[in-house]
Amino acid sequence: MNILVVGGAGFIGSHMVKRLLVDHHNVIVIDNLSKGFRDAVLCDSFFEVDIIDKVATGKVFANHSIDVVFHFASFIEVGESVKFPEKYFKNNFEATRSLLDIMVQFQVKQFVFSSTAAVFGNPEYSPIDEAHPKHPINPYGESKLMVEKMLEEFDKEYGLKSVSLRYFNAAGADPQGELGERHNPETHLIPLVLQAASGRRDAISIFGDDYDTPDGTCIRDYIHITDLADAHIRAIEYLRKGNQSAAFNLGNGKGFSVREIIDAAENVTNKKIPIRLHGRRAGDPATLVADAKLANKVLGWKPEFTNIRDIIQHAWNWENKFPW
Ligand code: UDP
Repeated sequence: MNILVVGGAGFIGSHMVKRLLVDHHNVIVIDNLSKGFRDAVLCDSFFEVDIIDKVATGKVFANHSIDVVFHFASFIEVGESVKFPEKYFKNNFEATRSLLDIMVQFQVKQFVFSSTAAVFGNPEYSPIDEAHPKHPINPYGESKLMVEKMLEEFDKEYGLKSVSLRYFNAAGADPQGELGERHNPETHLIPLVLQAASGRRDAISIFGDDYDTPDGTCIRDYIHITDLADAHIRAIEYLRKGNQSAAFNLGNGKGFSVREIIDAAENVTNKKIPIRLHGRRAGDPATLVADAKLANKVLGWKPEFTNIRDIIQHAWNWENKFPW
């Protein structure tokens, strides 16, 4: 198949491209390189384009017979989204609308969307299944929920079929060590903890230890990047069989607190990791853990790397390759 990966130079997108190449698909990448890295794109067809630019995006569609679009290009920092909401609504919502318009124009009808656990807001129960109420508590989650709603309307109106995959916390790195997490600035817990372990950073800040959790720090469900890529392959198989548009939660179903992650990282790296206590970060729910039973039942998806040590080990192997 001819698969367009929007945001293929980023963390999840680049791992996705690798998996699609292994599966012998023809992969085309669009990325504006605002966050991604050109050298993380493992396929030949690369276009430095911002999808808000309909003319440039349309050219890519006109020159390739695209069967399916994967969309990973978005801003992902909860804290930043609280400070600069307009950035998030423009890049995550408006740019996606622009991409969908082009898909309708070129009659490309299959779309896999990177959504997020942040669409749910504060959990009313845990683990969180797909039926859980959706009340985002930050503009990041709101912008993603707006896209999910837009996708429902594009299905009704234009027959555009989509799967929204709500990632909990994407983590880890390519087990072969070719790719990994490279955000600039880095804001995610596991890479930051590992930078503190390697000495690239003097300490890890814990954002709040007064949450209603056993050790007071936030609990998240960390899911290995290659397991996420596998869910996307299954999402496409699902759509190609003519199934209805759907949304699935993706996680391991097991939560780890910030302190547990630091302990596990000390164990994997065999280093003492200096800690600094910090106030809460705006927009953070105390606990986010996935109930991914639906993805298992409908897509046959089962994560391979369920052990947090493996996730941290692969990220540590990548950290040790710095500067990549
Ligand atoms: N976190 C932290 N220190 C950091 C970065 C993150 O304590 O330097 C916490 C953050 O508040 C959250 C958890 O680690 O509770 C995971 O945050 P991350 O940014 O990795 O992912 P998010 O949950 O925002 O998608």
